[in-house]
Formats: sequence, C-alpha cells, structure tokens
Amino acid sequence: MLKITILTCTLAAALSAQSSSPNASMARFDVKAMDTSVDPCKDFYRFACGNWLKQNPIPPDQARWGRFNELDERNKQVLREILEEAARAGGARDAVARQIGDYFAACMDESGIEARGIAAIKPELQRIKDVQDKSQLAAQIAHMHRIGIPVLFEFGSGQDFKDSTKVVAQLDQGGLGLPDRDYYLKNDPKSVEIRQKYAAHVQRMFELAGETPQAAKAMADTVMRIETELAKASLDRVSRRDPEKIYHPMKRGDVAPLAPSFHWERYFTGSGAPAFQSVVVAWPDFFKGVDQQLQKAPLDDWRTYLRWHMLHSAAPLLPAAFVKENFEFFGKVLTGAKEMRPRWKRCVDYADNQLGEALGKAYVQRTFGAEGKERTLKMVQALETALGQEIEKLDWMTGATKKEALVKLKAITNKIGYPDKWRDYSSVEIKRDDAIGNRFRANQFEFQRQLDKIGKPVDRLEWSMTPPTVNAYYDPQMNNINFPAGILQPPFFDKSLDDAVNFGGIGMVIGHELTHGFDDEGRQFDPQGNLRDWWTPADAKEFAQREACVVDEYSSFEVAPGAFIQGKLTLGENTADLGGTRVALRALLNTIGTGGKKIDGFTPEQRFFIAFGQVWCSNEREEALRLQVQTDPHSPPEFRVNGVVKNMPEFWKAFSCKPGQPMVNENACHVW
Ligand SMILES: [Zn+2]
Repeated sequence: MLKITILTCTLAAALSAQSSSPNASMARFDVKAMDTSVDPCKDFYRFACGNWLKQNPIPPDQARWGRFNELDERNKQVLREILEEAARAGGARDAVARQIGDYFAACMDESGIEARGIAAIKPELQRIKDVQDKSQLAAQIAHMHRIGIPVLFEFGSGQDFKDSTKVVAQLDQGGLGLPDRDYYLKNDPKSVEIRQKYAAHVQRMFELAGETPQAAKAMADTVMRIETELAKASLDRVSRRDPEKIYHPMKRGDVAPLAPSFHWERYFTGSGAPAFQSVVVAWPDFFKGVDQQLQKAPLDDWRTYLRWHMLHSAAPLLPAAFVKENFEFFGKVLTGAKEMRPRWKRCVDYADNQLGEALGKAYVQRTFGAEGKERTLKMVQALETALGQEIEKLDWMTGATKKEALVKLKAITNKIGYPDKWRDYSSVEIKRDDAIGNRFRANQFEFQRQLDKIGKPVDRLEWSMTPPTVNAYYDPQMNNINFPAGILQPPFFDKSLDDAVNFGGIGMVIGHELTHGFDDEGRQFDPQGNLRDWWTPADAKEFAQREACVVDEYSSFEVAPGAFIQGKLTLGENTADLGGTRVALRALLNTIGTGGKKIDGFTPEQRFFIAFGQVWCSNEREEALRLQVQTDPHSPPEFRVNGVVKNMPEFWKAFSCKPGQPMVNENACHVW
C-alpha cells in the first residue's frame, strides 16, 4: 500500500477486501465438483466447476466466492487462533505475541472505540484545521503520508528501472478516493451512477463528523472537484504498463518547477526521507495538474479534501456508524457484497497488513514444514526446465534472442514459503486501547522503512507478500518468483494426490509466475532486472504480433452487460496464464511420461486440465466483475480457464475436441 508497486505481477487479485465465509471444508481436487453433463469442448470451465458453482453460492458478506477464498478462510482461522491466544493478556507473552495480541485486542474492542467516538482522530482533524495558508500544505501532507493517508500524490522508494542495484526516491500520481481515474472521467450510465453514489457517501461521512447536510453537500462537491482534476492529470492504467512511460528520473531540484506552488523542500524534510539527490517521477504531467489545482482551489477546499481522506482512511476503526457507511459504498456499491464481514475477520486482515511478518512467523511455525519447501523447490525446477524447452523450440524467435531469454530464465531466483530474515516491528508502539493510533503508528513504521531504503543497496531477501497470503508474484526488477506458504496447500498443492493434479494446480501457478518474466512488461527487463532491450527488432515484432492475438481474444469476452475485459490491461496476466499452463503440462509429461493410467476415470492429461480449471472455480457478483475489468490486470476466473484451453492443442487432444467447437480456437494464440 505504501510502497509504489508499479510492477509486481501477482497470480490473482488481492483477496483481503473480500475474503471469508462460514467454515469452509478442506478444498481439494474433487470430481464431484465437476458437471460432467457439460461437454468439455463447449464450456470447459462449467465442465470442471459446474457442481461447485451450484453448491457454493456467494456468502452475503462476499463480493465473490472461489477456491482461493476457501483456502484464505482456512488460513484466517489459523491466524485467528494465533491472535486470540496472543491477545489473552494474562499469560506469559513474549514481545511479539504482546504486540500482535494487543493490536488485535484493540481492533476487536468495539465498545471502547464507540465510547471514544470521533475524538480518537481529533488531534489529526485539528492539525488539518490549523493549516493557515497554502504554504503549510506541504508539511501537513508529509505528516499525513507518514501515517498512511494517501492524499494528493505518492512518495516512496523503489529500485531504479535502469540500475536495479540502486534504490531511488519515487514520486507517483495518487490522491483519489475512487479505485481508478476512469470512474471520474467516463460518462456511461453505470459510471455516472457510481459517481453520484460516491458523492452522496462523502457527504454522509461529513455529516457523521458533525456537519449539517447542506455544509456536507458543499464539501462533497469540493472533494469531487479536486479529485476529478487529479484524475484528469493521471495516466491511465493501460499506459502505466509501459515502464518507459512511467520512468522520468530527475534531480531533486527539478521537481519544484513541475509544481512550483508546492513547497517541496518542506515536504521532503517533513516526510522523514534521508538525504537524496535524484528522484524518479512516474508521470510528470500529473504534478503539473497538481500545481494548477493548488493555484486554483482556495485553501478551505484543500482542508476539506484532506479532512475527507482522514475520515475515509480512519473509518474502518472509528465507531460503528462510520464503519457501516464506509461499507455501504465501498462494499455494497462497488463490490456488491450484501453484508459486512464479521469483525474478527477484518481485524485479522488489518493485523496481517500491518504486522504481517510478526503474525506470519507464528503462522509458518504452525502450518509449514521443511518438506513443503523442498517439494515446492523440486516442482519449480521441473517448471524451469520445461520453460527452457519451450523457449528452445519456439518457431518465431531467433537464436540470438533465445540465448538471452535462457540466460534470463537461469537467473531467476526462487523464494518459497517465508522470508529468511523476519521483519522487526519492535519499534512500533501498540496500545491495547488505541486501534486507530496503532494503525497510524504501524503505517508510519512502514513509510519510514520504505524511505530508509533510498540510497541503500537492494535487499533481495525481502518479501512483498506476507506468509499466509493465498497468492504469488514475480518481481521483474528482482527477477525472482515468490510463493508464500499460504498458497502451498490444497487445492494448489496436495501431497496426497497424483502429479497430474499438482502440476495443474501449483505447477500452473509456478509456470504463470515464470512466464511473467517474459510477458509484455517483464520481457523489457534483463536478467539483472534492468530495463534494457535484449531483443532483436525482428523478434520484438514477432512477439508483438503474438501478443495482439491475445489482446484480441480477451477483448471479446463480455463479463457483464456492456462490460468487456480490457485486453491490453490484462495482457501480461493472460500471457502468463497461457504460457504457464503450457509449461506446467510439459513439466508434468517430463515427469511422468505419456500414457499414464486413469484415476477417477480420467487420464493424467485430463486430470491436469481439470485441476487447473478447479483452481479457478468462482462465483462473482456483477458489481465485482465490473470493478475487476475496470481496475484489475487479471481476467475474471471463467475466462482465465476457457481463454487458456481454447488455445491449447494439447487440451483438444486430451478431450477429443473437434474443429468448430467453442473451446477450439483454430487460430490459437501462442506466445510462450
Ligand atoms: Zn500474474
């Protein structure tokens, strides 16, 4: 959240905003989840998942419900046990247990939070009131950034795109309340409706903070005005996939001319950043837009804008009326969830977000053994070998570029399960009666931790996901793949089941992450993680043609009336799905050979595809689908399955599909 993660390629959308439900049973590969009355060549997703989809309606507190959520739910139960045990104040607790336990206890203390009311953030609101002229805005914004309130723009650190050994200061666009700039700019009926509901929500939040309806309405208009201007100055999501477009290194002193109305030196000093001489600005035009707004909007409007973001960020840990109002818009309107998740699940999420490696260490001790790490590493090696073979036999790529690609593949490092070195949060003060203060202090720790990296060598052992996370990622600047312990379980990985199932599950996940090193973004980085073109022009052209095939295919998928997948936004993920699945199948066949015996009536190849399909079984609300195609680089699950198998002759053969059937794309896309 506080790190500018421009380029991390994850397996799936983050679950934290929408996960959980009643006690999910152990979710495994399951032939009973299939609907064998569906022809696999007509709709493979429903063939693999049909019964599961019927038997697993979306719980009312969810926006979607899939196999990822089932696993996430199990992980959350473990985290709850850890946190409740740690929260018992009486027993002998070590320092880490006291910290996570008191954090959880403070978050769960609804009556205390109710009693303190909005007074819990009174000093913060007062600071905003005390801003007496525009020249003081920089210091105030620096303070808000330090405690994790994302106003106006983002400041942090990251590896230099062109020298991956160096950590540099970074400035990026930001400051919106809605999930994407397009929400402010599009004029289709759905977008207009969401905008109106957002403005009404902002108004109600001001009313809860004590304003009259008329005053609150005027304030909401102000917020909309400022955020719309910021949205106009922001670069769109698809363009942001091009690393060259978001890479503008400059001298520290060159930032001020972009937005001379902002007191940059006061900001940098106030932020707590160490001394630095240069900074990478993602999109300089954004800051020109900021400057225009700083000149145009009166000081009082800025105070209103800052106050809104303070209320918005604090809402989940304020009294129930704020929590509920926040859910009404960000839960119900944006994702379609009907009910709020139980408090304990939200508090588990916050603890995971803020003290993740303290909590994660305890999680790993309970759930993940050395055996899990060893078996996963073995599969990673099998996948790397298979990807090397796929690259070698590509007919569209010349020898020179292949050689470079194989060097890059060999240089990928693998991180499995959990960090070798755990983060030390001992400097974060956690109070048992101050939930919102705990959040601000933990945010401040993270913000400072990110800034302290500026000018230092890159820490290649660091993780950007916590151990219980049901997800995985490839980092193009580190050139490494990362698999948290949370995903190395059924249905992804099940040591009691056959290789076909495991290669279709975690094998596909590994293949997906490896392929990210060679998708539209990843291919632009070299083995050392530097933005450097290692392609011959002819090969780059061939690559672009194959990617166009993928863009066209996915752009044709309509997920809700009028809402289509954005082929360009999801290109990297779709490429990773296509390549990852193909590579995983090759790795399976390298391991077991062809002609393996049937289990449950299915050949190993069939079981591979069914296992792959079942990882993605998922029911979704229409609102969640609309949000996803607007903001998320991942295609919705159904299309991640059918979109892939359509392009795989190996699939057609496994299920005897004929030309002309829906799962047979005769002009199959094949990048990797
Ligand atoms: Zn991915």
